[in-house]
Amino acid sequence: MLIELWRKETVEQYSVTPCVICGNDFELGSVFPMVYGDRGQELGEMCPVCLDYLDRRRADVDDPTLGNWPARNWPTLKDLEEARRRFPEPMFETSDDMCAFAVDFEADERLTRETILWPMEREKV
Ligand SMILES: [Zn+2]
Repeated sequence: MLIELWRKETVEQYSVTPCVICGNDFELGSVFPMVYGDRGQELGEMCPVCLDYLDRRRADVDDPTLGNWPARNWPTLKDLEEARRRFPEPMFETSDDMCAFAVDFEADERLTRETILWPMEREKV
């Protein structure tokens, strides 16, 4: 499982969503954890409580049987809180503002880079 930190794109985007891990509704905030399978299959948004809970797996980091284990590079709850402090607002007010910014391929690429604050590499087979 891969966990990235994403900035919320617009103020008008939905602000409450169920966590893909525990199913509880939670407030997305200005930055939220986004969960993928190891090969990039999108699973959904994850709540901060689950992020904190899964962080405990990091205690197993020295286990030699876990050779390819993405948990090593997961962000922590502290990383999420720090990102929310740095970026307290969504990137744009409205989707019109966002479309006005992403006028061409290059601007769209830049937008994606700025949205994903904590990217993780997909596993290559
Ligand atoms: Zn959860």
